[in-house]
Amino acid sequence: VADITAVKGVKDILPEEVPRWEEAERRFRAVFGNYGYREIRIPTFEDTQLFRRSIGEETDIVEKEMYTFTDKGGSSITLRPEGTASVVRAFIEHSMAHLPQPVKLFYLGPMFRHERPQKGRLRQFHQAGAEVFGLAGPEAEAELLEMVMQLLTREFGLQDLSLQVNTLGDDACRPAYRQALTGYLEIHRHGLCENCRRRLERNPLRVLDCKAEGCRAIARGAPVIGGVLCGECRSHFDRFLSLLDEAGVPHQVNPHLVRGLDYYTRTTFEVLGGSGLGAQNAVAAGGRYDNLVAAFGGPPTPGLGFALGMERLLALLPPEFAGTGPRVLYLAAADGEGRLLARSLARSQRARGVAVALDLLGRSLKAQMRAADSMGAAWVVVLGAQEAASGRCVLKEMTGGWREEIALADLGTALERRM
Ligand SMILES: [Zn+2]
Ligand SMILES: [Zn+2]
Repeated sequence: VADITAVKGVKDILPEEVPRWEEAERRFRAVFGNYGYREIRIPTFEDTQLFRRSIGEETDIVEKEMYTFTDKGGSSITLRPEGTASVVRAFIEHSMAHLPQPVKLFYLGPMFRHERPQKGRLRQFHQAGAEVFGLAGPEAEAELLEMVMQLLTREFGLQDLSLQVNTLGDDACRPAYRQALTGYLEIHRHGLCENCRRRLERNPLRVLDCKAEGCRAIARGAPVIGGVLCGECRSHFDRFLSLLDEAGVPHQVNPHLVRGLDYYTRTTFEVLGGSGLGAQNAVAAGGRYDNLVAAFGGPPTPGLGFALGMERLLALLPPEFAGTGPRVLYLAAADGEGRLLARSLARSQRARGVAVALDLLGRSLKAQMRAADSMGAAWVVVLGAQEAASGRCVLKEMTGGWREEIALADLGTALERRM
């Protein structure tokens, strides 16, 4: 064992796993593109204040899980624990409010959270997410969820998913709800964890997000917002539900589904996965955040989005889910002349875009054929003095399906015919 190993909670994605990742990422890009989203590549680290203010003080992420450090210039820097804050910052910083609306953006990449290792969670994990700006109506979240469910069920073939939706109200009706909630939580104060007793004053909604067992039990009996929704929030939510029906997206209203972040408004949702993930089975989650852009000094702009954990998604996919890598031509050499010819043919075929493997260890022809077999090469050509002299060779399918005698000069076109 080497004396330096990977840091606890981070993981190498090895070459044999990469095709799964690439295939998943390819499908994300294709579906996001179909719905008019464009990719944005946000930085891995940001000013710590960005996350403190967007995710919010008093959250588990900000209180316990951020990778924050002071850089050599004395600035407080944080490795991004999620993507939305950076996308919102970029939206404002690059004046995207002046672009034709809506602005639809997606991202893929690693996120960083100092999770407790015993939970088996990674400290560097990957998310795919999308954000939409400039759409205030419920058509926006209906389309977003149609896309998310299409991704999960059609592209990735996941079954037994449950889309849970709720509304959190807005500035008009949330204060009444907060008050009702605070009253209820005060009564159950003794059963709350220490963090929640403190959170209770500043943001009682956070308590509903707490993972502590006692807090979860209390949350289950908490009042729900449905009773105090204002007329606009009510009709927004009803219209959203009927648009989901129209799109054929099955869903369940879960009045206890809450995101305890200050800037979330109205629609919130979570996609729960089937068996195999235990209690932590949210595959994707998101919601509307109409106050976030303005809270960061941008022009008031409605927004919404979702994010999905890649590791969690890949864990739900069958082992055979993977992109097919390139088909490889193996150039085997029977003798010295064959080696020279193989190097030259490899050069010209690779220049044409053909994936070529050849022996660089001086191994016997038999060993080369074994190597071609174990790497899963699609075709093989054996080269030697005879092929060098005649200018012809035999192109064979590795599985033995067919063989064809051709001029060396025609190898490229012969392969194109067979691809
Ligand atoms: Zn708690
Ligand atoms: Zn309202």
